[in-house]
Amino acid sequence: MKTLKAMTLEDLFVHELKDIYHAEKQLVKALPKLAKASSSADLRSGFEQHLEETKGQVERLEQVFRSLEIAARGVKCEAMEGLIEEGGEVLDGDFDDNVRDAALIAAAQKVEHYEIATYGTLACFAKQLGHVEAERLLRETLEEEKATDLKLSQLAESEINLEAALGD
Ligand code: FE
Ligand code: FE
Ligand code: FE
Repeated sequence: MKTLKAMTLEDLFVHELKDIYHAEKQLVKALPKLAKASSSADLRSGFEQHLEETKGQVERLEQVFRSLEIAARGVKCEAMEGLIEEGGEVLDGDFDDNVRDAALIAAAQKVEHYEIATYGTLACFAKQLGHVEAERLLRETLEEEKATDLKLSQLAESEINLEAALGD
């Protein structure tokens, strides 16, 4: 991990942008694995849909960088690396199909909450710094992440957890 030095709020904003840019790119690689491991067709199509959204979020971040007239570059997001690594335990683990689906949702919601926290902070920083276009774009992604989290909760509560509890 790097030590951050002499950071202004603007520097912190840009640093956090680079962090989430790297995190989203990691997710573009990870989401197909979650989709493939899903037994529920609804869960699988949910992951596939969020993969497409996530690709759009990467492009939206590139628009944010452009609006700030800085190069789109990532810095390694250690937190997302860790969350994806934990999710990997689910992929490799020995589970009943329905229990694995419940575990995939748990892992995915940890990711969404990290993103919601990050985009919420970034939108507030953008507002404070007067980056109007960046704020608008960041709030668009924030709403997508919140909707994804809600959808995962609904899927868990309406079918997956019940089936996981019943067993095969
Ligand atoms: Fe995202
Ligand atoms: Fe991070
Ligand atoms: Fe997301």
